[in-house]
Amino acid sequence: MSSSSRSAGQQAEHAAADEAANEEEPIAVVFQCSECRSILGDSCAYVTPVDDLNAITLAAVSPAVLIAKELQTSVSGVDTGCGYYTLTCAGCNASIGRMYCSTPRQFDIIRDHYTFHIDCLTSYTIGKPSKTPQESMLLGSASISDYISRLRDIVTTIHERVERLEGMVSTDRAPDRGRKV
Ligand SMILES: [Zn+2]
Repeated sequence: MSSSSRSAGQQAEHAAADEAANEEEPIAVVFQCSECRSILGDSCAYVTPVDDLNAITLAAVSPAVLIAKELQTSVSGVDTGCGYYTLTCAGCNASIGRMYCSTPRQFDIIRDHYTFHIDCLTSYTIGKPSKTPQESMLLGSASISDYISRLRDIVTTIHERVERLEGMVSTDRAPDRGRKV
């Protein structure tokens, strides 16, 4: 699979153009730490997938991504011999990826960028209003059930008030007065 080698800036421009051209497309994907859900970056800075490493590479990240000071060298896998700095999540200290600083030609595109292992990420899409209300309810079931229990309280209160009012009305319409009307 050949991948695009557009820079992050060009990528962002294209994303804006694509967005205007096709409103069906998601505006952005936000990448989060799979452990603590800290926001690590988004697809506006997307560079490329790296299938060989089961990773994706971003050109820019949030402050939640910390770069280790110590330079390391990979000793196994397809990136053997590559020099890298470990990326960690500021939220949970998990190791989430690598910033490669020396790479063989096949990995030139990811050098000096932020490469995250797919398993360390979770994501959500912004600007994709394709969910049905039922799906939204399933996704937000916790808050929805809170909402329903609040509604139930309100309805109960209203019901009690109505019963009281009905009681007052039926008192007003006492049988003897009722016959007079
Ligand atoms: Zn984390």
